[in-house]
Amino acid sequence: MKKQQTYSYEELYEKNAKYLWNPFTQMKEYLADQPVIIERGEGRKLIDVQGREYWDGVSSVWLNVHGHRVPELDEAIREQLDKIAHSTLLGMANVPAVLLAEKLVQIAPPGLSKVFFSDSGAEAVEIALKIAFQYWRNLGRPEKDSFLTMKEAYHGDTVGAVSVGAIDMFHKMYAPLLFPSIKVPFPTLYRHPYELADEKQVVQRYLAEMEAVMAAQAHRIAALIVEPVQGAGGMIPMPKGYLKALRELCNQYDILLIVDEVATGFGRTGKMFACEHDGVTPDVMSVAKGITGGYLPIAATLATDRIYDAFYADYEEFKTLYHGHSYTGNQLGCAVALANLELFESRHLVEHVTKSADHLADQLNSLRELKHVGDIRQKGFMIGIELVADRTTKQAYPFAKRMGVKVARRCRELGMLLRPLGDVVVFMPPLASTIEELDSMVKILYQAIAEVTLDDERQSAGV
Ligand SMILES: *Cc1c(COP(=O)(O)O)cnc(C)c1O
Repeated sequence: MKKQQTYSYEELYEKNAKYLWNPFTQMKEYLADQPVIIERGEGRKLIDVQGREYWDGVSSVWLNVHGHRVPELDEAIREQLDKIAHSTLLGMANVPAVLLAEKLVQIAPPGLSKVFFSDSGAEAVEIALKIAFQYWRNLGRPEKDSFLTMKEAYHGDTVGAVSVGAIDMFHKMYAPLLFPSIKVPFPTLYRHPYELADEKQVVQRYLAEMEAVMAAQAHRIAALIVEPVQGAGGMIPMPKGYLKALRELCNQYDILLIVDEVATGFGRTGKMFACEHDGVTPDVMSVAKGITGGYLPIAATLATDRIYDAFYADYEEFKTLYHGHSYTGNQLGCAVALANLELFESRHLVEHVTKSADHLADQLNSLRELKHVGDIRQKGFMIGIELVADRTTKQAYPFAKRMGVKVARRCRELGMLLRPLGDVVVFMPPLASTIEELDSMVKILYQAIAEVTLDDERQSAGV
């Protein structure tokens, strides 16, 4: 077998600069800052071509579960590879895709009974939107063709997913390309527009705004799409009970509920799916990221029988879901997803997350000593630490200071890779991280935030 040739950092950097356009990356800034080039992984660590080790502090952007080079997952892929790598799911099936569909239905919120595969979270969202749209057409109610979404929502980067997204920095540019959606405020508690101190009342006001929009426009709304924890919008968990209240409003106004569990699914929030915190079953649910343990690109859109039945008809009725991707149901991906879900069970991983999340909360509390830590938001292993210029007024730092980027850069020097969201430092360790590993990571977080915010104060004071 031909062994892969090894290249020096300098050679790889040259080739990166010359040929590779990285996603969500300003290449000018990236190339000027000695980019990390990963060679291998081991457990919860990533190792670059220069041999430096880093904690994978955001689970390779929110998807790694058990760590890297997990023997059981590696073996599942090898075993499948000895049979076949891929055959199509269009008009036929394959063994691991069928078994994975069954497994997903078994672990999903009760009532979600059918699984439609794709390759990424954005696609799983696109498919959810098309299903909801076509559902009403198939029922003869084409006037229900609009979507309700939440301000600061993020559902992926394809044009349909961006149409129900609402983060100006990512989405505004493409506005002329998008279909309109109706945007309602997300129930943010740290910053909210109401002159109220009582959190319960704030939540009620948010809910009343949602109900007012539904009451006025339900006749033209196909579905509401929500994230149970707003991810890219700043790591903001929905208040307890909010998703349940949305479920009830959707029932009342005959609007479908799509829950985007791409980030929150597969144990991330301390339940297998975040819907379980409120005992909610959505009509349609999108999943991706953690489904393969962070190994291969598999995604899925789950639906209830009520939805599926609206598409189940004679071919001449044209009720088929006209959607599919070349690699849908890829065998290698489905095989590793099955092995991943087996490990969830044999290692009681969801319980591990719930328990360790309490410990993590204690550790993270130490960050409150730092006077520029404005808010710490946590749901399981999904954590956002919001840095502010002034804690009393919640005044944000000027955009140009790039405080989140600076903290991530300092973490990198200290041995952990992060990717911030503005001034929200995102911390999403792999779910299988041990208590000792989590403690080491939090230590780095503390030091980086302390140093960067102090540096900034000194600079502002001109010393
Ligand atoms: C990451 C993410 C997506 C997009 O998933 P991709 O696999 O990157 O396309 C969609 N929705 C949410 C909530 C996400 O966090």
